[in-house]
Amino acid sequence: MEMTDKPSLASLRRLLLEKQATPVELVEMCAARAEKENPQLNALISWDKEKALRAAQQADLSQPLGGLPIAIKDNICIDGEPTRCASRMLDSFVSPYDATAVRRLKAAGAIPFGRTNMDEFAMGSSGENSAYGPTLNPANPAHVPGGSSSGSAAVVAAGIFPAALGSDTGGSVRQPASHCGVVGLKPTYGRISRYGLVAFASSLDQIGTMTNSVEDAALLLSVLAGHDPQDSTSSLEPVPNFAAGLRDGVRGLRIGVPKEYMSGGNAPEVADALQRAIRTLEEQGAEITEISLPHAEAAVASYYIIACAEASSNLARYDGIRYGFRDTSATDPDTLFSRSRAAGFGEEVKRRIILGTYVLSGGYYDAYYARAQKARALVAQDFAHAFESGVQLILGPVSPTPAPKIGARDLTPLQIYLADIYTIPANLAGLPAVSVPCPAAAPLPVGVQLLAAHFEEPLLLRAAAALESAWS
Ligand code: GLN
Repeated sequence: MEMTDKPSLASLRRLLLEKQATPVELVEMCAARAEKENPQLNALISWDKEKALRAAQQADLSQPLGGLPIAIKDNICIDGEPTRCASRMLDSFVSPYDATAVRRLKAAGAIPFGRTNMDEFAMGSSGENSAYGPTLNPANPAHVPGGSSSGSAAVVAAGIFPAALGSDTGGSVRQPASHCGVVGLKPTYGRISRYGLVAFASSLDQIGTMTNSVEDAALLLSVLAGHDPQDSTSSLEPVPNFAAGLRDGVRGLRIGVPKEYMSGGNAPEVADALQRAIRTLEEQGAEITEISLPHAEAAVASYYIIACAEASSNLARYDGIRYGFRDTSATDPDTLFSRSRAAGFGEEVKRRIILGTYVLSGGYYDAYYARAQKARALVAQDFAHAFESGVQLILGPVSPTPAPKIGARDLTPLQIYLADIYTIPANLAGLPAVSVPCPAAAPLPVGVQLLAAHFEEPLLLRAAAALESAWS
């Protein structure tokens, strides 16, 4: 059996159905690739080949994802497997249940296989905040793969796995997808259940997919989407077949490009990718118009206040008592609590807990948290106005620059946060968004981003597929 360098789920499924490969062979192939590539890339924290082989032996090829191995970010629970969030705090934690997303993958026949590296508790943009060391970018190992879903993007870009799940709170699926050259989809907030996704900022968190094609993203979303009684924020919206209209093209669609996103602050490669996307979509019959998102500037500040506030509350559960890392030298509960947290969390996580606790504290709540919520409403309103004005999709960059060098980030946390300017708004507004690789970008991969109105993933994926097919 020959597996291509960067296999898609659809192509592997064909191999399986035509009996040119067996699920056991696919698992063996992924494991062999992981063994070869991971010592350098550090994209996987662990993988359990024996367990995956057992699942492969039972695989039911009549299922939509029958026998296909899929890597899972280390913050999405898999029953009986470590779920560490790349943190010392959860180093010894083994999940006693499956996340709904994992349960649905398994029910569709897929084999969850491999825990991907990430920024600790999904806080970061480079993958460097991991207690297990940084992941390297397969396109150029001197560069970061982006983050926080660093390993999920890297395993798909390196062809170790055909697909991976990530999580996107402020861009963590789309930005590493852009930096590594894969398709990264963040669905509408509530489209995929968050049950079993370790909470970072619950009003922003959403599970998303990393794949080598738009068709694969649609295939996965069709399996993952849908209401879940175990997540009160999961949507009741019906689940269409997302792969159905993929070849319908963009003729007649109105696509807005925010003037605020065309700033001189974008690196030349990013500006070039955006121009190419505009030209390609126009050539395919779409109408491109300039729009304005007047509150775009407030998005980063609003996000970092809200995300840190929610994180400080969500991460209070790691107290050294119920589960997770415990400092056993303490003799009273307060000391146990503070020493366990001091040793268990990394620097960035602590920074955010402190910031979040501060903005929620009595004297400052109105000045920061309440204002951030108002700014969030204005950011969401900008999008609502744009869609009301007649554009069906919005096109923009994913990140202002291609992937930075490993360790070369002599940047302050604030400078790092500002680079999330183009991905954060979709989370604040709960909108679906996708990063599509622009193949002409060199020497490092660069993606462009499409956004749609709530639950308009079919339209979003259709336009993404149009770009992809014109560019392949
Ligand atoms: N880079 C952003 C942050 O550090 C986004 C993280 C994410 O989406 N999980 O918060």
